[in-house]
Amino acid sequence: MLRWLVPREYAPSVQAIDLAALRRRGIEALLLDLDNTLVPWGAREIPEALPGWIAAARAHGLRLCIVTNNFTRRAERIARALGVEAVTAAAKPASLGLRGAMRRLGTAPASTALVGDQLFTDILGGNLLGLYTVLVPPLSRREFPTTRLVRLAEALVMSLVRRRMPASSGTPGAPRRGSS
Ligand SMILES: [Mg+2]
Repeated sequence: MLRWLVPREYAPSVQAIDLAALRRRGIEALLLDLDNTLVPWGAREIPEALPGWIAAARAHGLRLCIVTNNFTRRAERIARALGVEAVTAAAKPASLGLRGAMRRLGTAPASTALVGDQLFTDILGGNLLGLYTVLVPPLSRREFPTTRLVRLAEALVMSLVRRRMPASSGTPGAPRRGSS
């Protein structure tokens, strides 16, 4: 069970992901979690650095799709403002939304990476489909109330996961502090 929760790579932020290295691995598309990965949970504004990162990812030849369990207009609005496709109400870790996003981008699991902040939705869902999974720490400490409970379990698993991650992939640390 635990191996399905281990990300292939850890990055201290979305901006810190080595996009060129992903391309060298044959990655052609990124599935991006929204809340606490691209934007702080519940945020309406787009972080200043995000459009530049989206542009950089595209410049590296990566196709992008947001895949979020969020089902609000807000998620769609943010995706539109960023000019990125989005699958909302994706029900990760279930595969339907992730598969739908890959179909839209015309990409196969072996050439797709998933970036997210949660082990039990993003990383588990990505690993089950054979995607290259990248874990980032949550942008904000604010989140959905039930997510807070999940985080307790996640902290336990994370201490085990840390020991299993390849040394080159960085070490999961504390959540990014900031906008909350
Ligand atoms: Mg998230």
